Amino acid sequence: MNNRGSLSEKTRVVHPPRAALPAGNEPLVSPIHQSVKYMPSDMNHFRSILSRRGQGYLYSRISNPTVRELELTLAELQGRDDGIATASGIAALTAVAMTFLKAGDRVALFTESYKPTRFLLGNILQKFGVQTTRFNRDDYSSFELSCRSSTPPKMVFIESPTNPVLRIHDLEWLTNTAKAAGCMTILDNTFAGFLVHGEFDIDIFVHSLTKQASGHSDAMGGMIIGSPKLMDEIFPVALTLGACLDPNSAWLISRGMKTYSLRVRESSASAFALAQWLNHQPWANHVMYPALPSHPDYSLWQKQNKNDGGSVVTFDLDCAESQFDSFFENLRIFSVTPSLGCVESLAVPCLPLYGDDLTPADARSAGIRQTTIRLSIGIEALDDLKSDLAAAVLAMKP
Ligand code: PLP
Repeated sequence: MNNRGSLSEKTRVVHPPRAALPAGNEPLVSPIHQSVKYMPSDMNHFRSILSRRGQGYLYSRISNPTVRELELTLAELQGRDDGIATASGIAALTAVAMTFLKAGDRVALFTESYKPTRFLLGNILQKFGVQTTRFNRDDYSSFELSCRSSTPPKMVFIESPTNPVLRIHDLEWLTNTAKAAGCMTILDNTFAGFLVHGEFDIDIFVHSLTKQASGHSDAMGGMIIGSPKLMDEIFPVALTLGACLDPNSAWLISRGMKTYSLRVRESSASAFALAQWLNHQPWANHVMYPALPSHPDYSLWQKQNKNDGGSVVTFDLDCAESQFDSFFENLRIFSVTPSLGCVESLAVPCLPLYGDDLTPADARSAGIRQTTIRLSIGIEALDDLKSDLAAAVLAMKP
């Protein structure tokens, strides 16, 4: 703005002098673009931004440079060309479902999946005429029959490893079977992370960035990843649903991503060692961790997950139901709170959080029992974590 001196103070503070960076004088760390609005260079630019994604920025709900940087980073890590960030993982799943499903369509999902995903597809979308068919992880033949029927599912939602009991899906078989039926494949890759599964014929990857991506329990986010063509279809729906990622959270998550592989490696190594130790504790039954040879999907895990078992371990505490709550109340290092994939270790009872919408028989077949516990392992010293669990068991009320 020229001739600033002729303007009143009131106007000048609203339009402050710009400290533009000289060409080539780049900051090492990208700034947070904390602006909702962007001004086009001229009116042609204004029109091109409106007509095509990627031509610039106008309004942060549509796109924002800090958010875009994160989208490009994560799409590249997952081995795809484009992505759309959202305000949470469940917002990402919602945008995908709302884009491609309409009344009369059928969607397939597995009982062993994240409870809000079951609620989204089986309750919310059902109100709009979408039919949901739920399959069991151990009954692929029913899914195959459905794909071969005259009304195959339009879309299948897969999660691998599953939340909370860490079942692994056979992604090659599932994608081949779905593709032969013209069924779109959506993979919630939150537990597996960005470094695996890119080689499979998955149409759309969805992630919660609230977990290992941000890693520090201070930012929520979600991510949709796939081809530019599919992202172009999702884009108007995602921005109209309004659950866009804000630049502050995007910046925190981008910072978290710089240490992503270090944190994943550290917490996965601890989780594996803790799972092996739990397997020898008289008070821990049904220890589930994909890298344990006793895991029902161990060979699939070896094939698909590049040696990363993840940071979550699930087990059943051998105790009376009346003692169960006191175990959590006696934990000192593990925090009793939902979510996972952060530097702090966490513990939660599985049934109320992830299984109380299921019939008792479905919950049991999904591996969720009265005293099933999900641990998320952080980066504390392993011996301290073991001592904390052992002490909480000893201190359980009689
Ligand atoms: N998908 C899976 C597998 C999850 O575990 C979660 C959260 O725990 C979500 C999606 C939803 O993520 P958010 O809490 O960021 O909405």
